[in-house]
Amino acid sequence: MKLAQQIIEGNRTALGKGITLLESILPEHEKQAQDLITACLLHSGKSIRIGVTGVPGVGKSTFIEVLGKLLTSQGKKVAVLAIDPTSERTQGSILGDKTRMHKLAADKNAFIRPSPSSGTLGGVANKTRESIILCEAAGFEIILIETVGVGQSETNVSNLVDFFLLLLLAGAGDELQGIKRGIMELADALAITKADGDNITNSKHSALAYKRALHLFPALENGWIPQVSTCSSLEDTGIAEIFETITKFDTQMISSGWKIKNRKDQNNYWLHLAVKEELGTKQYNSLLAEGKFKFLEKELKEGKTIYQLLSNL
Ligand code: GDP
Repeated sequence: MKLAQQIIEGNRTALGKGITLLESILPEHEKQAQDLITACLLHSGKSIRIGVTGVPGVGKSTFIEVLGKLLTSQGKKVAVLAIDPTSERTQGSILGDKTRMHKLAADKNAFIRPSPSSGTLGGVANKTRESIILCEAAGFEIILIETVGVGQSETNVSNLVDFFLLLLLAGAGDELQGIKRGIMELADALAITKADGDNITNSKHSALAYKRALHLFPALENGWIPQVSTCSSLEDTGIAEIFETITKFDTQMISSGWKIKNRKDQNNYWLHLAVKEELGTKQYNSLLAEGKFKFLEKELKEGKTIYQLLSNL
């Protein structure tokens, strides 16, 4: 397949076309899209997948642009994908306006792709999962997934990434107000943004409060202790340190075997979700009771796509 070959050679235009093919709802594109994923799967997997979440205005795009430029200046290839659970209402608010990351968008070592503009949240996240495969096949080694933290998307997003970063604003009063506990439990690191000018002291206080709050949470299964820091995208402070934390996490999780195990679990999560959405809960439960998933999970591990497995059910 010519398109797959071009993607594997690192052609960004071909990568864009490939993702458009994945997002197409035309039935005649479905088979082509699946063949493309199968061809790219063999070349995928070698990346750090990082989720960046936070409420609108917290500074996600500005942060991603500064982090992205830092990484491309080190010779790394950076892809930015977005998941916007509010896009149906706001017509694609995140990354829709490319000028928000104009420096990164112009960088030949970066690839930026807005959120798919239609579909259910699970569907959109699933397309993003497939897009990650294509980006990795194209040689992108850092994949940043931007999402609006509105409370519904986090579980899905955390199942797409290796590392989950929660951006927070320094607040007066009760630091934890308005932040859902569930989101904090998923985070591998918390960063208080806009720690510059008059906001520096306030941000440091917030960081301390979050650090204390995290102590109350149960320890993570992988042994990682979530980190809390402050940063400013405006002054470029604290951002290189956050990436150091991510690198440390990645090294630790590779050597403990957690990274591979976690990605396998995540693939299974998407498989189960897809079967449930496609066949309904009743049929899903009977397949589960029959022990069918052992076989499906094995096939998935051996390189079958979820779509192929679904069409054989
Ligand atoms: P997003 O909605 O989370 O993507 O937030 P944006 O990146 O669009 O930023 C929202 C606003 O905060 C913009 O006006 C930015 O200029 C501003 N902003 C972003 N990062 C910083 C920062 O580090 N310091 C300051 N003072 N303002 C920032």
